[in-house]
Amino acid sequence: MADELTVPFSVTMASYCIEFHGRNRCRTCTDDGCVRLADANQVIDQFRALRLERYRLSRRT
Ligand SMILES: [Zn+2]
Repeated sequence: MADELTVPFSVTMASYCIEFHGRNRCRTCTDDGCVRLADANQVIDQFRALRLERYRLSRRT
């Protein structure tokens, strides 16, 4: 369990946000895109990068 990278609350919320946008549009959605969706994608991307980094480090040692 100590090896597991815990999922931050912001990542959980971001994944909910992306899932929501798969079905609906939120208040800030426009034809050009959505600030909230862009933020959510950025949070997820950062988390994935971090997780990948941890994985690489754990394999190296
Ligand atoms: Zn939106």
